[in-house]
Amino acid sequence: MLGILGGTFDPIHFGHLRPALEVQQALGLEEVRLIPLRDPPHRNRPQTSDDQRLSMLQAAIKGLPGFRIDRQELERKGKSYTVETLRALRQEVGAKPICLLMGGDAFQQFHSWHRPDEILQLAHLVVMQRPGDSIPPGTDNIVESAEPLAAAPGGCILFQPVTQLDISSTSIRALIRNHRSPRYLLPDDVLTIIQTQQLYQQPPEVNS
Ligand code: ATP
Ligand code: MG
Repeated sequence: MLGILGGTFDPIHFGHLRPALEVQQALGLEEVRLIPLRDPPHRNRPQTSDDQRLSMLQAAIKGLPGFRIDRQELERKGKSYTVETLRALRQEVGAKPICLLMGGDAFQQFHSWHRPDEILQLAHLVVMQRPGDSIPPGTDNIVESAEPLAAAPGGCILFQPVTQLDISSTSIRALIRNHRSPRYLLPDDVLTIIQTQQLYQQPPEVNS
């Protein structure tokens, strides 16, 4: 099975890495692809450039078996729609099961994504519960274990318990802006890039 985790990763932190590693091991994923978004449909553009986010991702997963970076959304023009990414992956991997990993906060918004029904046909959803998340009422297709995921290319929703790490990129950016250290919330090598390139020193530009 292939796992994918999309995000702005602005910056990547242990709240992405630890839950993704736990899902990889719990489900026996042969590969986890981190897919940085170029232009997210639901939020402001990232504060850092594509290259800066890529180099932080590379530093974060260096030596981590089974983890890879997939640049397809950075290379595609226009908004980053998960459904398009999944269509491309489906072409690439045939009928192999694809698990779309997301935090519980992302799952709460899932119904408002572009073509959620097609996404759920193309992949399973594996929801990594974040502190304070609850399962939205009326959620169909829930499975209780990993077995059904291996038996179909997509279509199931699994709520996977993961270590609760109340870490977000937003809070890390705010710490840096306020001259506080974000150390131990993200890999040291990522922090070194942030410091060397003086990232996140300024408040975000408001864009439309
Ligand atoms: P921001 O604060 O800028 O929104 P973020 O920390 O939420 O950043 P994203 O890049 O938006 O990070 O998240 C990518 C994916 O990782 C989303 O599906 C999100 O729900 C999930 N995720 C992020 N942080 C955590 C965490 N601490 N625990 C579990 N999942 C997480
Ligand atoms: Mg987020």
